[in-house]
Amino acid sequence: MGYIELMGISKSYNKQSNVLNGIDLTIEKGEFFVLVGPSGSGKSTLLRMIAGLEEISGGTLKISGEIVNHLPPKNRNLSMVFQNYALYPHLSVEQNILFGLHAKKIDKEIQRKRLEETAEMMGLSELLKRKPRELSGGQRQRVALARAVVSEAPLCLMDEPLSNLDAKLRANMRIEIRRLQKRLGLTMVYVTHDQVEAMTMGDRIMVLNDGIIQQVGEPIELYNKPANLFVATFIGSPK
Ligand code: ADP
Ligand code: MG
Repeated sequence: MGYIELMGISKSYNKQSNVLNGIDLTIEKGEFFVLVGPSGSGKSTLLRMIAGLEEISGGTLKISGEIVNHLPPKNRNLSMVFQNYALYPHLSVEQNILFGLHAKKIDKEIQRKRLEETAEMMGLSELLKRKPRELSGGQRQRVALARAVVSEAPLCLMDEPLSNLDAKLRANMRIEIRRLQKRLGLTMVYVTHDQVEAMTMGDRIMVLNDGIIQQVGEPIELYNKPANLFVATFIGSPK
């Protein structure tokens, strides 16, 4: 039994044609799983359905053995990081990090302890009183990650979290995110349209095109044995 199981998952918006078609997929606990594909292929739609932010049109979604098709996001025990950070501009770094914990009515003392540990881990201890506008792009991204980490959710979903950063910072953050995922033993579902990001970060990768799975496998498999011309071209393997 996998940690996340998608069985025949499909999605159509406003009763129009399907943007996802019969997706069958199992993601294991502790895995760094990358969803990659061109813009418009359905990556965000799939991730948002796992998060519970988008209604599932057909099929069954299980997390940790439980059918969650109709479970609200807050009951799915997951955290999410988006492309645009989504920090609150009027709140301090500290308040931004703790925002999600307030709603969960977690004891103040425990909140403080988790905040300190997380800030330390993410190199944000000196920045807790600042506002987002007083931070660099990389620091803001780190706050967004800290907010996910502090929740202590075992499952983390990321949607193109690095696409607003410059190339050098992006390369550093890839390593940081990987290290963090390992250290915390998170199950990660990571969306990107960047082949290099997918190939360097993923334990396994799923290549999506037009709402249809092209191939699922380890980076080396996709590179050496692309399932079709689309995968070969997209991944840039020699065949
Ligand atoms: P990706 O993240 O891979 O770029 P998306 O999941 O955002 O792809 O989009 C997949 C398809 O679904 C696209 O054709 C897009 O236009 C369509 N789509 C996404 N969100 C909506 C929406 N809220 N309403 C209608 N169509 C949508
Ligand atoms: Mg997207």
